[in-house]
Amino acid sequence: MLIGIDLDDTLADTMPSFLLFCNERRNTVYTKAGLERLDYADLMGCAIEQAFLGFQEFCMSSYAKTIKPYSGAVEAIERLRDQHQIIIITARSAGALAKLTQDWVKNYFADLPLNVHFVNNYSQGIFRARKSEFCIKLGVDLMIDDSLEHAIDCSQAGIDVVLFDQPWNRFGAPEGISRVQSWDEIGKVVSSKN
Ligand SMILES: [Mg+2]
Repeated sequence: MLIGIDLDDTLADTMPSFLLFCNERRNTVYTKAGLERLDYADLMGCAIEQAFLGFQEFCMSSYAKTIKPYSGAVEAIERLRDQHQIIIITARSAGALAKLTQDWVKNYFADLPLNVHFVNNYSQGIFRARKSEFCIKLGVDLMIDDSLEHAIDCSQAGIDVVLFDQPWNRFGAPEGISRVQSWDEIGKVVSSKN
């Protein structure tokens, strides 16, 4: 299978660092456990156009230097690569963040060359492309993501989806989408689909 993996909050434990960035800027007290939906505009207290520029600023800041892969992700991907082709598909914008993102992946997945594809769907706040369109173009069989929006989009397009459990995706996930709690579990769920 060709497996697409989302970056932020699926492969990378981004949210704690991002919330620190938001809370210190705005004097707010958001916690990861308290997020019932993923709304960057709300977290950053601005319009969606500014929120995605703010996310870029976060990615380029010292706050983002603390982002690590989820526990077990490196080992799970090592095992999956014996039988599958793995790519990263992120909604991040390629322009300002391409090198920084690729360097992060190279740093933590040094022995596993993983191509990173940038969907650019939030560039300048405009929804330019869906992850499903990207997945179809690339021939992705299975997408692993934490975003309910992307999971529903891909599932409706006929792509198999594994939803990486997060507080913001627990409400409204349609049936037929497998939910996993950890990277160990992802390995098992993907193996069961062979
Ligand atoms: Mg994500």
